[in-house]
Amino acid sequence: MAGGTRDYDVAVLGAGLVGLALAASLARAGMRVAIVDRSSVDASNVSVASASSTDEDWDARVYAVSPGSVAFLNDIGAWQRMRANRLSPIESMDVRGDAGGRLTFSAHELGERALAWIVENRELHAALIASVRDTPGIDMLAPRTPASIAWGAGAAELRFDGGDALSTRLIVGADGVRSWTRAQAGMHQDPRPYSQTAIVANFASELANRGRAFQWFLSDGGVLAWLPLPGRRISMVWSAPELLADELLALDGAALAERVALAGARALGALTTITASTSFPLSLLRLPSVIAQRLALVGDAAHGVHPLAGQGVNLGFGDAAALCSILAARGAVRDPGSSLLLQRYARRRLEPVLAMQGVTDGLVRLFGSRSPWIGALRNRGMSLVGTLGPVKRLLAQPALR
Ligand SMILES: Cc1cc2nc3c(=O)[nH]c(=O)nc-3n(C[C@H](O)[C@H](O)[C@H](O)COP(=O)(O)OP(=O)(O)OC[C@H]3O[C@@H](n4cnc5c(N)ncnc54)[C@H](O)[C@@H]3O)c2cc1C
Repeated sequence: MAGGTRDYDVAVLGAGLVGLALAASLARAGMRVAIVDRSSVDASNVSVASASSTDEDWDARVYAVSPGSVAFLNDIGAWQRMRANRLSPIESMDVRGDAGGRLTFSAHELGERALAWIVENRELHAALIASVRDTPGIDMLAPRTPASIAWGAGAAELRFDGGDALSTRLIVGADGVRSWTRAQAGMHQDPRPYSQTAIVANFASELANRGRAFQWFLSDGGVLAWLPLPGRRISMVWSAPELLADELLALDGAALAERVALAGARALGALTTITASTSFPLSLLRLPSVIAQRLALVGDAAHGVHPLAGQGVNLGFGDAAALCSILAARGAVRDPGSSLLLQRYARRRLEPVLAMQGVTDGLVRLFGSRSPWIGALRNRGMSLVGTLGPVKRLLAQPALR
């Protein structure tokens, strides 16, 4: 690019999980793609599936990847690269309310091998980087700092710090919840904080998890989730009110393990901390539109959801799969940045994203309410749903796909 401006069909800004997956899928569909990140993008940075990553070295950042996302990751040659001994299927799920409500799901009763697969961030990231590197037609531009975008009628020009530039028919903002790309298009919407912080850490457990995930809706409005890792290990996501989160983060490993075991009624016996805790602020992001002239937003740049349903990155992979299939099938419309195609993308993603935000945000509000009436209703409702097979199936389908 040093010798002048390069032309692309699509420039993806942000090489997180969603941007990488999108770049790989677009290039496989024959498009010329640039992927840009302000940080360096190197599998060794995320210390992957390599000899340096020992069996006892577990990433505290994990995702529950849905069967629908697994199929997409398989299509772009990423899932096959994951090490089998680092994957853990969720075979059943046990969800408890704060006053006796209970709901269980099992993969078997829904006709699935797994409700989701628990994967470590660094394993998935590395698999996607390898997939991008092995796919012809992608230029990885990282670390590079984008400086400005000029949105032209026939193309957009992305200029970098240092003065060089690229020209592209379509810019995709995949640069996370505080998207720089979104702001460049004049879409100045801030995420709405949930006043909760997610604390994540991994533990060894006294009892085997047998592929079970647990989730507790707690009386303070927080949500505690235990996700199965291979062997006698679990990964915890505790979405806690801010004061409690500060308290949990200040505990040493042994005290945190005891506190977490107690909050989960010792469902897996005693716990021992195996990775230090770390935290993520939680917010909701709802945009009036995920497209603009020569721009489409994907992943956290397009929407923010509470992690209680473990669906953020799954929604992002859904965006990537939808955008790629629309651009790949554009036929006579040669221009991948045409507003016709972008509107088709926005329409296709509207319903699944709104539905997931509605469910997750609704549950946060429902369990955040202090009213004793609502408290009794939500627990009774939960147990009732548990007895109605078809309703349960209906609830589980969007999360699976
Ligand atoms: C505690 C917690 C648990 C979660 N659990 C789950 C789960 O179980 N399942 C699930 O599906 N989801 C889960 N999520 C959500 C998931 O983490 C996110 O949805 C997902 O990581 C978003 O990926 P992304 O690629 O869109 O964005 P990001 O991961 O934020 O990546 C953005 C990329 O853009 C780059 N970038 C940023 N700014 C610029 C710029 N100006 N120029 C160039 N590059 C830039 C960054 O360097 C980064 O590489 C969870 C979230 C939290 C907080």
